[in-house]
Amino acid sequence: MFESLKKAIKNFSDSITTRELSEKEIESAVNEFVHELIQNDVAYDVAIEIANEIRLSLKDVKIGRFTNSHTIIESKMKESLTKILEIVKPPDFYQLVSSIIKEKGLCTIVFFGVNGSGKTTTIAKLAFKLKEKGFLPIIAAADTFRAGAIEQIKSHAEKIGVPVYLSKYGSDPASVAFGCVQEARKNKRNVVLIDTAGRMNTDTDLIQEMKKIVRVSKPDLKIFVGDSLVGNDAVNQIRTFNSDIGIDGVIITKMDADSHGGLIFSVARIIKKPIYFIGIGQDYSSLIEFSPEVILKKLF
Ligand code: GDP
Repeated sequence: MFESLKKAIKNFSDSITTRELSEKEIESAVNEFVHELIQNDVAYDVAIEIANEIRLSLKDVKIGRFTNSHTIIESKMKESLTKILEIVKPPDFYQLVSSIIKEKGLCTIVFFGVNGSGKTTTIAKLAFKLKEKGFLPIIAAADTFRAGAIEQIKSHAEKIGVPVYLSKYGSDPASVAFGCVQEARKNKRNVVLIDTAGRMNTDTDLIQEMKKIVRVSKPDLKIFVGDSLVGNDAVNQIRTFNSDIGIDGVIITKMDADSHGGLIFSVARIIKKPIYFIGIGQDYSSLIEFSPEVILKKLF
């Protein structure tokens, strides 16, 4: 996780060697860093903004004779990156869910994302966490399109001991979502997690289907699940889903398998929606709450 981005940061601070930081020296180090950021899946415009931020923070920095230049540069980098990560710092997820339950008796969350991004696994991980924390989740298997999707969610639900609301393949996903909300009210479940079909963001039928699910189930939160490994493609997916359906937050999966991790910075600068969780493995406990501190710890 982040090995390559971490190396880029280290290269940057290693490349500045003089004590009086000249404009020329900063410029050359920053230009190289922009290049490395782009290699690490940070979108071009975002890399330029990060560079500007760093350039500004290094302006007028003087490194004393007995201070370690490496430490000072790193702390300036940390400051700049923290500023960016703060944009996507989420509210406490479980407190948010609790307050919605308090107000409405039930919290409904719908998940979007393209196939293979890890959406179904993430829903199972989150249901597992919610159950551990004393919530009463139920999962709606509203992906009635992809062969195997219903069995997959059913198998996860059995393993984690969470009920699932099922229907047949080909049935209307919006009616499955609605049925699950009713079932939750009837059986005193308090968090409804709706799994949806994940086709490409360019599929207009899918977008219509998602809009109908939203109209009918009236979710409190609409969360996009994006795959870290597809890098900037995920930014385009989030943009489309956000403009067509509107999203409230993001979960980024497979961070454990991604040495780049630049997607987080692109989401922060371009999408500006909270990143609630990051996926760091395949088992149910491998979902951690996002915070700038967690990311900075991995980067420095
Ligand atoms: P969906 O099509 O979006 O529902 O994707 P799935 O939930 O079926 O996941 C696709 C693959 O990604 C599965 O093999 C998952 O185990 C894997 N996966 C999901 N989240 C993570 C993660 O955080 N880390 C890793 N390494 N694999 C993940």
